[in-house]
Formats: sequence, C-alpha cells, structure tokens
Amino acid sequence: MAEEVKTQVTMDQLVSLCKRRGFVFQSSEIYGGLSSAWDYGPMGVELKNNIKDFWWKAMTGMYDNIVGIDAAILMHPKVWEASGHVENFSDPLVDCKQCKLRFREDNLEEENRTSRTCPDCGGELTESRQFNLMFSTHLGSVEETGSIVYLRPETAQGIYVNFKNVLQTSRQKIPFGIAQVGKAFRNEITTKNFIFRTCEFEQMEMQFFIHPSEDRKWFEYWKEQRWEYYLELGIRENKLQFHQHGPDELAHYAKDAYDIQYEFPFGWKELEGVHNRTDYDLRRHGEFSGKDLKYLDEATGERFIPYVIETSAGLTRTVLTVLSDAYEEEQIDEKEGRTVLRFHPDIAPVTVGVFPLVKKDGLAELAQDIEKELRSDFSTFYDQGGAIGRRYRRQDEIGTPYCVTIDYQTKEDKTVTLRFRDSMEQIRIPIDEIAGTIRKSTKAYRRV
Ligand code: ATP
Repeated sequence: MAEEVKTQVTMDQLVSLCKRRGFVFQSSEIYGGLSSAWDYGPMGVELKNNIKDFWWKAMTGMYDNIVGIDAAILMHPKVWEASGHVENFSDPLVDCKQCKLRFREDNLEEENRTSRTCPDCGGELTESRQFNLMFSTHLGSVEETGSIVYLRPETAQGIYVNFKNVLQTSRQKIPFGIAQVGKAFRNEITTKNFIFRTCEFEQMEMQFFIHPSEDRKWFEYWKEQRWEYYLELGIRENKLQFHQHGPDELAHYAKDAYDIQYEFPFGWKELEGVHNRTDYDLRRHGEFSGKDLKYLDEATGERFIPYVIETSAGLTRTVLTVLSDAYEEEQIDEKEGRTVLRFHPDIAPVTVGVFPLVKKDGLAELAQDIEKELRSDFSTFYDQGGAIGRRYRRQDEIGTPYCVTIDYQTKEDKTVTLRFRDSMEQIRIPIDEIAGTIRKSTKAYRRV
C-alpha cells in the first residue's frame, strides 16, 4: 500500500489538469478566449455524458413513476411572463464609478455594501439596479418586439407546459415525475471559478407532481434521495451539507428550499436545489394560457392543481464537483508521486486501459485483440508507448480505474495483469475473467 500524502486540491491545479488531459478548454481559445465559456474535450465530454447517464438512470430507470422529456430551448415568450422570470429573475448590480467593474450587490462583503466602496479599487459604487438574467434574441428575420424570444434560464418550464401532454400519453397518476436534462442560459455577471458559474450550462431537473396535502412528505423524501445519489456517485459525505434557504433567499416560486452544497476549493457552494414550488407554476400557466391544467383524481373525483417538488442539479457544476472530489496528489515512495482522479468507475471517461508490456513478439497484436473484446462492454484505451509505469500514471491522471497489461506469460498461459487505480494492487487473472472481475469490482466500489 502506498504511503499517502494527500493535499487539498486548488483551482489552479484542477484547471491545469483539465487543460493538460483534455477535460475542459477555454472557449475560442485561439482568439484569446471568451470569458466564462468553456468547451469539453475528449475526456470531459465522456465524463459529462457518464454523469448525465448516471443521473438519468437514477431518476428515471429506478422509478416506474418518473418519465423523461426533451423540450426545446426556445419557448413561447408568454412562458416567461407566466413563470415570473420576466418580472423577477434579476440580480441587483452595482458599478464602480472609478474602475468600471461590475458586481452583484448581494455578493459584496458587508463592509463594501454598507460603505458603497469598490472591493477592487476602493472607488465609489453606483446605486444598485435590477438586471434581468435572461438572454433574449429575435425569432425569424425581423427585429420587432413581437418576435422576442428568450434562451431558457431553467429547463423546468419545458416540463410544466408539457404536464398535460405527458399525463395524457404516459398513463401516469399522481404522484409522478418528469425528468429532463438540457442547456440553460443566464447572463451571469460574476462568472469566476472555472465551470462553476457560466452563462451557458446544463441542468438535470426532475419535477415531481403531488397532491398539495403531501408536500412535506415528498419534500423530505426527495431531499433524502438526492443526498444518497451523491454518495452513490462517489462523492465523499464529509464534503456535502444541506443549507436551508432563509426567507430572503427563497425564489419567487418557492415555499421551502434546501441546497445540497459541496465544499469546493473556494468554499461551500450550491450544487443542487430541492424546492417546494407549490402549485405556482402550473397555476400561472393555467392563468396565462387559459388552459385547464388541473388534475382529476379518478378515484376520489377531486380536481386540483398539483404541487411540485423539484430537484434541480447542475450537470456542468457536477462535473466540477466530481473533479474536485476525485483529485488527489500522493507520494508513492521517496522518489515518485502521482496525480490521481478517483472517479467512481461508472463515470470514469475510460474504464480500462490496455497495454502490451512491449510492442514486439506479437504482444501488441495480442493486446489489441483483448482491447477489441473489452470494447463492447467498457470504454477502453489502448496505449503501447513508453515505460509501463508512465502509462499507468497517464491513466491515473484521467481517472481510469483498471489497467490490463499483456506480457510474455500471457502468450503461454493466457493470463494478464489487472491493476487497480486506487490501491495500485496488481493481480494475475485469465483473459476470460477480465470483464467479470471489472464488473464485480465496479459494483463493490467504495471511495477510499
Ligand atoms: P446561484 O444562487 O448559484 O445563482 P441558483 O440558486 O440560482 O444558483 P437554481 O436556479 O436553483 O440556482 O439552479 C439549479 C442548479 O443549476 C444549481 O444548483 C446549479 O447546480 C445549476 N446552476 C445554476 N446557475 C448556474 C450557472 N450559472 N452555471 C452553472 N450551473 C448553474
């Protein structure tokens, strides 16, 4: 077992690893970059897709009464009037009269807020004004007021406006949920901390429709389920906490709200919100569209507007969470150290690296055959370049949980070396047991 010296990850270390190993690149980098926009590289897109699949299975596959949709990003402009976003979805902004920097007033330190001084240069701040976070654009070729559309600031509204469609086509009865993953856009002013807060991001949301009298019960239920989900995703429990919204933090639609927070390198911040949105959204859409969005309980004859418990997680923010949580630097012996991403095997961009010990004497061909076999079950990576130790380190850095090495003995007795990322333990097993051993180990995986 390696002698471990663990260090707390810094944002600089993460950003540098993400660039170096193809997780995340600055958008439009060759033009100097676009502030707060990021691109996901070959490793990043696999990680993001795996997290999305993990969420989708956890939220739809594991429940008979949750179904999915994929709504359009552009919606009828009335949606955002009904939802309250046109009126309420804004941040209070202040500008520095001297250096012209712009800040969210609610993010300023107490001292700067009360003395109205710029935290950067000490200059005087302007009065605060409300700044709507929705991006707007024009549909079609004519720029006139009637053609204004918004890029959705949350995916939830696509679910509410389809409530009746889903109800009628899926034969669901209350309580039931609708899940969706997709892009959302907010014209955020303070976008720092890498991919934590960006103007374009992805959300994974589930809206659960219930009888109004059962809101406490379902709220507690979803809080608990969502906490468990993060443990299953491999996040360390001591890095998670709940934060209940005080009266001044509650969104315009919410009766009760808890954030699940993660301890990022820059502090405890929201990762997901669990909200009791009451009947606010369906009631407003009923009023604004003139359509009856009530639910009829056939057993009791009662007609009512359902309450909604929402679980709203950021996908891109989960990528940052998983990266922060998985990153470790450890000393293996006096001479050597390694950087390792301890991803849960289910979400690792590559599940198994396959290496011939040397290229010659047919070992490369044999290793390629084994890799082809494993490809139908796992995401694989073949590497024949450099010393074997270096190849292991490269896989550690992208979080590959298993590596298979083919050597001369493989030719004789059809066995290989299987190496585990976290413990660096190596075992000798027959080729036809590789897939089974990996599956078993993944199932039993516990973060160390
Ligand atoms: P914040 O207070 O951080 O602005 P919020 O309370 O407005 O967030 P919600 O509207 O509850 O956030 O959105 C649900 C989830 O969507 C958040 O928990 C977060 O994971 C994600 N999210 C929201 N805004 C952004 C953003 N600008 N960039 C990345 N993810 C975001």
